[in-house]
Amino acid sequence: MNYTIIGAGKSGLYAAFLAQDLGHNVFLTEAKTQEQAEAAAKELAQHSIDAEFGGHTDKGLQADIIVVSPGVPPTNPFIQEAEKRKIPIISEIEFAWRQLDTVRNPVIAITGTNGKTTTTALTAHILNQSGKKAIACGNIGTAITSVVRGLEAGTILVVEASSYQLDRIVHFRPDVALLLNITPDHLSYHGTFEKYCEAKYKISLNQNEKNVLVLNADNEPSLAAAAHSRAQILHFGVHPLQQGLYVSSGKMLIPRGQPDSQRADIQHKEEQLMMVDELRIPGIHNVYNSMAAALAARAFEIRNENIRDSLMSFAGVEHRLEYVRTLNGVEYINDSKATNINSTWYALSSYSKPLVWIAGGRGDNNDYSTLDDLVRQNVRCVIAIGEEADAIFNHFSGVVRCVKAASMEEAVHRAAEYAESGSIALFSPACKSFDMFANYEHRGQVFKEAVMAL
Ligand code: ADP
Repeated sequence: MNYTIIGAGKSGLYAAFLAQDLGHNVFLTEAKTQEQAEAAAKELAQHSIDAEFGGHTDKGLQADIIVVSPGVPPTNPFIQEAEKRKIPIISEIEFAWRQLDTVRNPVIAITGTNGKTTTTALTAHILNQSGKKAIACGNIGTAITSVVRGLEAGTILVVEASSYQLDRIVHFRPDVALLLNITPDHLSYHGTFEKYCEAKYKISLNQNEKNVLVLNADNEPSLAAAAHSRAQILHFGVHPLQQGLYVSSGKMLIPRGQPDSQRADIQHKEEQLMMVDELRIPGIHNVYNSMAAALAARAFEIRNENIRDSLMSFAGVEHRLEYVRTLNGVEYINDSKATNINSTWYALSSYSKPLVWIAGGRGDNNDYSTLDDLVRQNVRCVIAIGEEADAIFNHFSGVVRCVKAASMEEAVHRAAEYAESGSIALFSPACKSFDMFANYEHRGQVFKEAVMAL
């Protein structure tokens, strides 16, 4: 068969290698020039894969199937032409899925606006700590097409699935699907919030009664996914629930059976998984992520003791509320992955100590007013950087002390100057990184280096 792969990012490259391994004719087309995509061009040449750079010509339309990389929008003229010609277009996770035997290798898929990477890493951690073999893949950095061949029987794939990847699935059917939350993001790709939700609901599109869908009881758009699913539904939340996992009085509880009005003795039967404050990763959002991961593990019959031990030992993922160092009684925290308001809301609510908050970067129609209450309560000083510096300064200067900084180094120096012993210097930008940095990883690295240089 003739495969055209659109995009020479990680998932595009590994999709091309997989298609080649499977004996297909492969052609890859990339919008960036050869110079811009130099490393990928080299790898493709090494594999003798035919490729074009600097735009998509009609050559790619001589395909039986097209595998599209995340982020290529449906409005792309090449995609539209392919659709007109009725060439099937699938995402990389759909392509990988078609090579899997899920009886041998079950799949857990995780999506949501925020918390995907943390929950994917955490779920794989619990499974691996409990005697199973699990591989975290997908958006988390290891392309799913790079791991699907030659898997040992029993290895579980824990797949971080973005809405882009889910948008182009056909048969993808995870044994267990987690929909962590949905809040507005990526609207320029999906068009409307409804379309964004629909893409997320696709995680359960092909699931049946034997499969499990885990939903956030405290997030309306996540909860609404049940209406689009045939799977068994489990919930997590911070209010008592009849099934799944919930938090009450600082405990994570597993309800047992339905309450019975005739039998007072079984009315409140529930099992304690652990105390919330035993979790190693901070913040209420991580309580949600932990509950979702625990439910996925329970679907694979992992024992509660193992889940508890694993949740106690999980230290988190780089650039997500990552502890950097303590200097002069001030803790420095790197949350560079907070690229939208919602994730920064959780960061600001995760600490009881006073905060000096560094924020800014490239905005995405940011509405800072949702952070007002938290800033009033917890923040002593805001240090604004990047393209959003003025907007942040103007918004918060009536609420709390604000300063602007021209670079990350200057921002860190200001933080060291203003933070008193016993407080936290938190870098949680609420913005994208592309105004000053290559990506959020680069931005987090620069922050950490500046902190270590203090
Ligand atoms: P994703 O892969 O969905 O972007 P991450 O685990 O990388 O999610 O976390 C991204 C950012 O969102 C981090 O700043 C993190 O602190 C915050 N975050 C993590 N989990 C949640 C959640 N459940 N709700 C809101 N924010 C979260």
